[in-house]
Amino acid sequence: MARYTHATIDLNALKHNFMVMSRFSPSSKQVVVVKADAYGNGAVTVAKCLQSQADMFAVAFIDEVFELRDAGITQPILVLQGPHQEQECELTNTLNIVWMLHVEQQLNWINKRIRNNEISNLHHWVKFDTGMHRLGLMLEDYGRLNADYTHIFHPTTVMATHLASADEPDNNASLTAVNQFLSVMADQHSCLSIANSAANICLPESAKTWNRMGISLYGSSPFVNDEVSISLKPVMQLNSEVIALREIAAGESVGYGATWTASKHSVIATVAIGYADGYPRHAPTGTPALFDGVVGELVGRVSMDMLTFDVSNIENVEIGTKVELWGNNLAINKIAKQVGTIGYELMTRVSKRVPRKLI
Ligand SMILES: *Cc1c(COP(=O)(O)O)cnc(C)c1O
Repeated sequence: MARYTHATIDLNALKHNFMVMSRFSPSSKQVVVVKADAYGNGAVTVAKCLQSQADMFAVAFIDEVFELRDAGITQPILVLQGPHQEQECELTNTLNIVWMLHVEQQLNWINKRIRNNEISNLHHWVKFDTGMHRLGLMLEDYGRLNADYTHIFHPTTVMATHLASADEPDNNASLTAVNQFLSVMADQHSCLSIANSAANICLPESAKTWNRMGISLYGSSPFVNDEVSISLKPVMQLNSEVIALREIAAGESVGYGATWTASKHSVIATVAIGYADGYPRHAPTGTPALFDGVVGELVGRVSMDMLTFDVSNIENVEIGTKVELWGNNLAINKIAKQVGTIGYELMTRVSKRVPRKLI
């Protein structure tokens, strides 16, 4: 007894994607980014599945570390935003955390504790800003920081940066940023980390000691326009079913606000998923979904728990017909584009009330 609506999480696809992505840079180690519940796919699920292959996992902030440790994940966990509060530093050893330090305040907190032997993990990461201007220390301050924080800066400290435009393969800004970064770091540090998914695929110069990979492992292209085709397999498929059907006459409207009006006699299918499940409320009329593999088009407003589709041209739709909102046969990026967003957002927003079923 349950609503049929669910997301399947394909662990073989996840393993396949990890293998495909690792092949781009066989000599790099891979950080598997599982922030935001592994982009909605389930952080513990993903970490357990890749436990024997991943060298490290990454989350955004410390709150996301706990469930991984509770689930028995033993790899070091990189915390991409570093400690938000000084107190968090005290959990460094207990939780086996690797901090990505991005502001001087954090360098202070950690440097002091390493000096006092309160922290035994000596391999924290330092992040530099190469043009994204969001997080990271400035490259021109490198010399001074290196001299001031001697307990953090040593030849094997991982120096990292995050590229602003790696998802645009033709944008030269990425290579310029990589070269700026390397010109400051390369002589002093043997451990570097630059590449995310997009850079790992299309910017070989960015593959260094560590890559940080997220979206590609979940099977979605990091490139907005799918410019680069790679053999990734979708991990998440979002499924629902038809729970009501009706025929309406030309001139009748569908949904809240009567925003869509039938121009001819139409068959409308009501599907048991809505914006409270993470389906984007702004999905416009015409957004596709597959009814037993055949495309139907969204009509009318997305409701909290339901969607309405015009299935006039599809044969044999009935109550119980299975619906794929995105997944193996309908790319999440295709839906994202219709809605004016990216696959990342759709994936991370699939809400808690949608059960994840592992296959
Ligand atoms: C999220 C994140 C990544 C992973 O990026 P993808 O595009 O999902 O591969 C890498 N590095 C940092 C700093 C991140 O925040």
